[in-house]
Amino acid sequence: MIYRDFQNLKLSGLGLGMMRLPTVDGDDAAIDEAAAAEMIDLAYQSGINYFDTAWGYHAGHSEEVAGRCLSKYPRESFYLATKFPGYDNSNMPKVAAIFEEQLRKCRTAYFDFYLFHNVYEGNIDDYLNPEFGILDYLLEQKKNGRIRYLGFSCHGSIEVLRRFLNAYGAHMEFCQLQLNYMDWHFQGCDKKAELLQERNIPIWVMEPLRGGKLARVSDRTAAQLKTMRPGETIPGWAFRFLQAIPGVTMVLSGMSSMEQLRENLKTWETDAPLTACELSALVDLQDQETKAGGVPCTACHYCTSHCPQSLPIPDLLAHYNEHKLTGGGFLAPMAVGSMPADKRPANCMACRSCEQVCPQQIEISEILHEFSDMIGM
Ligand code: SF4
Ligand code: SF4
Repeated sequence: MIYRDFQNLKLSGLGLGMMRLPTVDGDDAAIDEAAAAEMIDLAYQSGINYFDTAWGYHAGHSEEVAGRCLSKYPRESFYLATKFPGYDNSNMPKVAAIFEEQLRKCRTAYFDFYLFHNVYEGNIDDYLNPEFGILDYLLEQKKNGRIRYLGFSCHGSIEVLRRFLNAYGAHMEFCQLQLNYMDWHFQGCDKKAELLQERNIPIWVMEPLRGGKLARVSDRTAAQLKTMRPGETIPGWAFRFLQAIPGVTMVLSGMSSMEQLRENLKTWETDAPLTACELSALVDLQDQETKAGGVPCTACHYCTSHCPQSLPIPDLLAHYNEHKLTGGGFLAPMAVGSMPADKRPANCMACRSCEQVCPQQIEISEILHEFSDMIGM
C-alpha cells in the first residue's frame, strides 16, 4: 500500500468508502454485514487505514456497520471519517444531536476526520448561516478532542467552492471532491483542483471511478488504453490519473465486492502516475465519449428517499444512459420491462423533490420523461 503524508499522519493512498457496501437482494438499506466485515478486514489487513462513512449512507446503516466492524481493532490503528448531513437542510438545526448519535453509532469517542457533507448551491446559505452555528459547534468539538481534522465535501460549482473557502477556508484542513478523468472537464474538476491547490488544501477524492462507470469503458477506448499501457487494468487508469494530480492525498473508492477490493489493492501497491502525455490522451478520449450524451449519475442514492413514488432513480438513469450512449437497443427496455410497473419512469409526477438533493444537479424529472417517451414505459 502506498502512503501519503497528511500533517503528522501517514494515510493509506486508498481509503475504503462505505457507501456501496455489499447488500442483500440489492436493497440499499440492507447491508450484507458478513460480506462487508470480510471486506473491511481484508482492507485493514492490507494496509488501508482510512474508513469513510456518513450519516446517510445505506439509509443510516453504514455508520453502524463501520462501528461494529472496526471496533475489534485498536482505535488508534485506523482513521475514521464521517460527515454532518447538511445535504438535507432540515438537519441544520440538529448538529449537536446528530453528532452525538454518530459517535454512538460508530462506537467511538472521537472522529479522526469530520466533514460538512456535500456543500452545494442548495445548502451553502444554511451552512454559512451563523444562526445554525454549525462551524462553531464543530470547532468546539475539535477543541475537546472529539474531531481531529475538519474538512468538507463539495459537489457544487466552482463559485460555491470559492464562496465556502472564502468564508470557512481558514478552518478547513482538507476538501473531498468528485474528481476523475471523466469529470476533469465535464464537471470542471480541473479548475476546482487548481483552486484548492492555490489555497494549500489537500484533496480527498470521491467517485474516482464515477460510480463504477470508469471500470467499464467502451471497446474503442479500452483498445487505445491497452496500446498505451498494456499491463494496466481499466480501473487502474482512473487511479493512475489521480496519482498524477497535484494535491491529491486520499482516494476513496466505494467498493462492493472482494474482487473490486483485491483489484484496487493491487493497483495501490505501486505509485505509477500517468505521464503528461498519457493524461492528456486519456482526457481527450473521455471527452469524446461524454459528448455522445448521458447523465452524470453517481448512484449515491441521495434522491431515492425523497421520491414520493419510490422510484429507483439511479437504476432508471443507468438504463437511460445505457440506452442513450448505445443509441438504443433492447437492453434498457428489457431491464425496465422487468421492473414492477409502478417503478418505471412513466410514474414520475415531475414533483422535482429528488432534484433538490441531487449533488450532480441532474434534471431527473425531465430525463425520466424523455426516457419514458423513448421506451414507452
Ligand atoms: S420528479 Fe419524479 S423522480 Fe423525482 S421525486 Fe418526483 S416523482 Fe420522483
Ligand atoms: S440522480 Fe443524483 S441524487 Fe440520485 S443517485 Fe443519481 S447522482 Fe445521486
